[in-house]
Amino acid sequence: GKGLAVFTSGGDSQGMNAAVRSVVRMGIYLGCKVYFIREGYQGMVDGGDNIEEANWSSVSSIIHKGGTIIGSARCMEFIKREGRLKAAYNLVTRGITNLVVIGGDGSLTGANLFREEWSSLLDELLANNKITKDQREKYKYLHIAGMVGSIDNDFCGTDMTIGTDSALHRIIEAIDAIVSTAYSHQRTFIMEVMGRHCGFLAVYTALCTDATYSFICEDPAPNNWDKKLCAKIAEERKSGQRLNIIIVAEGAIDREGKPITAELVKKVVVDNLQQDTRITVLGHVQRGGSPSAFDRILGCRMGAEAVMALMEATPETEPCVVSLDGNQAVRLPLMECVRRTKAVAQAMADKNWDLAVQLRGRS
Ligand code: ATP
Repeated sequence: GKGLAVFTSGGDSQGMNAAVRSVVRMGIYLGCKVYFIREGYQGMVDGGDNIEEANWSSVSSIIHKGGTIIGSARCMEFIKREGRLKAAYNLVTRGITNLVVIGGDGSLTGANLFREEWSSLLDELLANNKITKDQREKYKYLHIAGMVGSIDNDFCGTDMTIGTDSALHRIIEAIDAIVSTAYSHQRTFIMEVMGRHCGFLAVYTALCTDATYSFICEDPAPNNWDKKLCAKIAEERKSGQRLNIIIVAEGAIDREGKPITAELVKKVVVDNLQQDTRITVLGHVQRGGSPSAFDRILGCRMGAEAVMALMEATPETEPCVVSLDGNQAVRLPLMECVRRTKAVAQAMADKNWDLAVQLRGRS
């Protein structure tokens, strides 16, 4: 059978295990020899036990677990050609020419570069007598399929990334818990949620929790946000509301691009309204816990589609990323999505927020 390997890279997210499981089982079902690569690109560069053949039962009892059981890492060596040469050797000598990468835009960019260089990497290995002429010929094409695992929902091309829905569940559970204590003491709570470059979690959280206000990066707060915020809180309290929830995304900014932090918001509320105000930073709790039903299904569907894409690939097929588009798993050109994602970041750096939102598209 064809050699196929799956790995997770960059930040972890809930639902990655469902995706890994699906890739392994779909691969085996279609007659492939399937491998795990542990610790992302680091395991690919280091080889040895990091690359291990998987069987049907090696992915039993993982679908409900958060994070990634095969480990994830950032790997400086893979950014250099020397590291990629080692990785190519480790794959060719195991007959692996199909890769499923589950990660963020950095991981996908690395996979694309690896594929572009594949031929020249094999030439170098042959010239150094590391591989045989037969191996050079037999494994001359590398195929890539990607999936995005990220709680931020920050990738262009897909309606949802794997992990976002679970993170939302985690955040909402935490806020629901805080609401009851805030109610008892008539407090204002400022909740900091993840999302450095994408306000999706903050906006959806605000909608789900009856929050008074939310601060994000794509829609910077107006110049007089402090007055508007205090007026809204005061008005709500006057009408009988006993608490207020304010959501601040990590990357929240004002119109000048200056950060709006939870501390700053707290100072504004305390100085102007003298309210009992507390901050809760949810941090990595958002990335933890078991994946939601949605993320388990998303991982399953995307994993199966990724393997089918690889099995149908011809030498001309470009690397794809499996995306969710209106509840359909679809294949999109990987680099086009990565470029769009990077263009969004650039537009935000240029303070062109309208362009950023337009580039990001539907979700
Ligand atoms: P997250 O969104 O969680 O940060 P990511 O995949 O974008 O995920 P990165 O740290 O950017 O996270 O990338 C993960 C790994 O992918 C890097 O440590 C590196 O090994 C590899 N990688 C990233 N960019 C490149 C690149 N341009 N060339 C080669 N490899 C890369």
